[in-house]
Amino acid sequence: GQCVTHCPTGALTARDDTDKVFDAIADPHTTVVVQVAPAVRAAWGESLGLSHEEATIQRMAAALKALGVDYVFDTSWSADLTIMEEGSELLAKLAAAAAATGDPAASADLAAPGAGDAPRFPMFTSCCPGWVRYAKAHHPELVDQLSSAKSPGQMFGAITKSWFAETQGIDPHSIFCVEVMPCLAKKAEVAYAPMNDACGDPDVDVSLTTREMDRMFRAACLDVASLEEFPLDDPLGTFTGAGVIFGATGGVMEAALRTAHAIVTGEDAPADAFSAVRGMDGWKEATFDMGGTPLSVAVVSGLSNADKLIQSIQAGESSYHFVEVMACPGGCVGGGGQPIHDGCELAAERGDVLWELDRAMPLRKSHENPVIQQIYAEYLGEPLSHRAHELLHTDHHAWKMPHEA
Ligand code: SF4
Repeated sequence: GQCVTHCPTGALTARDDTDKVFDAIADPHTTVVVQVAPAVRAAWGESLGLSHEEATIQRMAAALKALGVDYVFDTSWSADLTIMEEGSELLAKLAAAAAATGDPAASADLAAPGAGDAPRFPMFTSCCPGWVRYAKAHHPELVDQLSSAKSPGQMFGAITKSWFAETQGIDPHSIFCVEVMPCLAKKAEVAYAPMNDACGDPDVDVSLTTREMDRMFRAACLDVASLEEFPLDDPLGTFTGAGVIFGATGGVMEAALRTAHAIVTGEDAPADAFSAVRGMDGWKEATFDMGGTPLSVAVVSGLSNADKLIQSIQAGESSYHFVEVMACPGGCVGGGGQPIHDGCELAAERGDVLWELDRAMPLRKSHENPVIQQIYAEYLGEPLSHRAHELLHTDHHAWKMPHEA
């Protein structure tokens, strides 16, 4: 069925991909791996009549297993991986800027960004495909300033069909990787040509919205509320509080700062030291001390706010090292694939669910995730290594927008 939604990203018509997932589950030769994005857990129970207490990720895992899914993992795990790569990329750019001028403090000087071969600032986050499409369409001059890191969903798919498949002895061609996202723009992202492995297999086979997953539960007549909670599978179900807050505006920035600060200073700052960029304001900014060097950051959600910020930067009225942009107001919790309640905006309430989860987590920094530490030790080497680049980074010029084709 087709339905029209209020998605602000331009992906106005929601395709229904649930049949593809039911078909994969029915195929005995296919291993179906599902990853669930952090923002989904804050909303999936709304249209099923579940309370916050009932709508846990473990109850969702039980429902997905009842459908016949083989593995249920968490995109929060690969959000931690994204932070390792994107945070390291930011630090490498700051170091390159300092080296280009011979001045170790030059990374803080944004007055003449991009002089010579020095990187241009700000670096923009790239995990929101709604924003990446907007940048390519309306600000092509900024595309080289997008982080080259793939989004957490794509990173997850790439690791599932490489490291996970190898360690489990599963033929990667037999894996059908499903992501459950709060997002409509992700349906286009999974189909971009550079999001394929060396054999041409896509990192992620299907992107479902939260609404589609709920529809699958209803189609299978599952009484979800009565299901016993079921733990997420190992190893890609292990995550930190930093991975969970990716779903709320300011969360990617805060997660990145927690890890970047630890890398730069070697100190263990409190996880809440960077909370100045939380909250529902559409444009937030702050400057943090990173071991004696000031780092100025901004967080915008909603594309009209992104546009205002870009105009301000280009007019020389503001300058930042690092900017998080989410197309949907409030971030992914308010995404176009979430349950819709007419006249009711629940992004703030859903965001609070994620911040509470973060507060309750024993590990709240991405570099503390033991499975992240394991994959770098066993498989990837260092962040930004050759293998990390092959699997986890992309070229935003390697696919065309419709107007470029
Ligand atoms: Fe998708 Fe999140 Fe971006 Fe909205 S903010 S377009 S839900 S990635």
